[in-house]
Amino acid sequence: MRKSNYINRTSFFIISFLFIQLFNGCFGSRDVYYEIPKEFRNPQKKIEFIEKYTPYIKNKIIFIDPGHGGEDRRNIGFEGDAIEADINLNVALALTTFLRQANAVVFLSRDKDTTVALQDRSRLADSLNADILISIHHNAPAIENDIWTNYTSTYYHAKPKYYEYNPVNHDLAKYIQRDLSYAMRNSGGPYSFDGTYSDYIIYPNEGFSVLRNTKMPAVLVEGGFTTHHFESQRLTELLFNRIEAWGIFKGLCRFFKAGVPIIKSVVNIDSIRSDNKVINFIIEDSTNIDTNSVVVKFDSVRFNDYSFDTKNKLLKIDLSNITDGKHILKIVVKNTNGIHSFPFERKIFIIKNEHILGDN
Ligand SMILES: [Zn+2]
Repeated sequence: MRKSNYINRTSFFIISFLFIQLFNGCFGSRDVYYEIPKEFRNPQKKIEFIEKYTPYIKNKIIFIDPGHGGEDRRNIGFEGDAIEADINLNVALALTTFLRQANAVVFLSRDKDTTVALQDRSRLADSLNADILISIHHNAPAIENDIWTNYTSTYYHAKPKYYEYNPVNHDLAKYIQRDLSYAMRNSGGPYSFDGTYSDYIIYPNEGFSVLRNTKMPAVLVEGGFTTHHFESQRLTELLFNRIEAWGIFKGLCRFFKAGVPIIKSVVNIDSIRSDNKVINFIIEDSTNIDTNSVVVKFDSVRFNDYSFDTKNKLLKIDLSNITDGKHILKIVVKNTNGIHSFPFERKIFIIKNEHILGDN
């Protein structure tokens, strides 16, 4: 009897101690709260999610850019302990783990606290032929000592009606923002309908360098405010960094499942003889293409001499009314899931027949 009582009492103290430690670990003296995703509470659900989306994301080249680092560690939060460079890296490394579990190919602009020049980040992503670029940042308010502003936002480059706007960036931003803001239980902020923002809001007609200078669909996430009284505390916890990364991962998975149309020219279009009146493009996509979505532009001007064969996903552009010389061709289409095509912009040179034949 006595032994049993002793064991019971010991068990009680051990369990109480563990409970207090667990409570301390999650919330501690800190006054913060966050929701653990069901996939973290039940590992089987996590495995099921990853396996479900692996067919769509495997072999995709994902370039992750944890913002700042090395000499650039300026944004340190209101109390000096929520260092943006480190939080960005923690989220990026957790995202890398999830993506690799789904057999994606991941590259990072940095995987430790090192200095990386801004232009090198986009240059590296381009040289690796990445399918997607995600730049990870955390925010700070415009007004000094503001400790109450906090929201989660995702930026895309340019604005609709501007030439540099590629709607696939906006699609990607929407998919990531939805799952990211839900995972963090943050709103998208008061200045946008859905938490996605054009980078022209921050730098008019210019945007963020890392988004402007990349060829592939690219977004920049601002996970939350390191300056916010409560958010700064959550952001310094590795578990919360993983939750944030899980949100980005889920958004990416769903984006790739919806399919990204890829426009491919059937022949080399760098230089075209003017007697070749029609050039053909195949649109590769796992779903169907919305016939009414096709936009063809020559030198920024909308061009309507084309036909689109929905069944064969074949786009034929008739060049009869295009003058000889250099032109810039831009094509955008959208699939029936609402995802726009991978950015397609090419310089083409239409050459007179006589020039080729040497008659003139
Ligand atoms: Zn930043």
